Amino acid sequence: MPTHLIATDSVDATAAVSRIGGQPLLAGTAWPRCSGCGEPLGFLAQVDLAALGDPTLTDAWAVLFSCDRFGGCAAVSQGKGTLALVVSKAGASPATEPPSSGTAPKPLRVFPEGPIALAARASSVEVPLGGGDEETGHRVVGSVGAVTEWMQDPVEASCPSCGAEMRVAFQLDEAWGMTTATYTFVCSPCRQAVLVVQPY
Ligand SMILES: [Zn+2]
Ligand SMILES: [Zn+2]
Repeated sequence: MPTHLIATDSVDATAAVSRIGGQPLLAGTAWPRCSGCGEPLGFLAQVDLAALGDPTLTDAWAVLFSCDRFGGCAAVSQGKGTLALVVSKAGASPATEPPSSGTAPKPLRVFPEGPIALAARASSVEVPLGGGDEETGHRVVGSVGAVTEWMQDPVEASCPSCGAEMRVAFQLDEAWGMTTATYTFVCSPCRQAVLVVQPY
């Protein structure tokens, strides 16, 4: 029984909670740029890694970015243009997106902005991703600790630091509307994360 990610009502754009959209909490790092087009990446979501139950990661956020220029950035179609950061909560503060160069297409923000609440479903509910949560009426937008559904062929991820196979931290849908699922992998010892995006 996976732990679901459930979207609740609106929250402040800088709130220190798991949420889709708003401003990312970063600690001492510059706003990341796309490895393909060089423009500032778009912020998708941040998720409290304490949800994993791994004591080495309870003090950190996973902060997810992608190149906003969907369809306009070659990196995205090549499977790049995405980034997952493991950010220590201590000292993290809201970051503001820098202006783009003006030569690239205007950024698209098609994902809904709202918080994510973590809810372990103790009962035998089987809520499909994107479906409603019967108890609260909130939408299930993902799962923690396991992949519930691959949109394309299953993939694995190797840690960019140590090379070991990474564990699935969470699956998050709706970060780009209903057209894309994102899979975040982590390596706890290295505090590294990798974001894999699969279109429906
Ligand atoms: Zn790009
Ligand atoms: Zn590693």
